[in-house]
Amino acid sequence: MSHGTTHEMRHRKGISLLPIGHDDYQRTLGSLPQWYELNAVCSTCHRTVHVDRYEMARRFGGDRKVGSLANKLVCQGCGNRQGNMLMIGMMPRD
Ligand SMILES: [Zn+2]
Repeated sequence: MSHGTTHEMRHRKGISLLPIGHDDYQRTLGSLPQWYELNAVCSTCHRTVHVDRYEMARRFGGDRKVGSLANKLVCQGCGNRQGNMLMIGMMPRD
């Protein structure tokens, strides 16, 4: 049994999720601040999936509006594609 001598709470990824505001929905993929992580939340089963915004930008183009991606989302858990939301994950910066 090993317990660290320091308070090691950070081996878990501490990403806090926030709902994306309307302003952010108007932003394009390419103009999002670097520390924005996108996460998709299924409206049916609440499964949360990390979205690779850079892959999205490659696939849909960097001038694609973030808000227009929400209805492209298909849940990998239940297959739902209605009403899915995008959330912003703030990477802890230190
Ligand atoms: Zn689902």
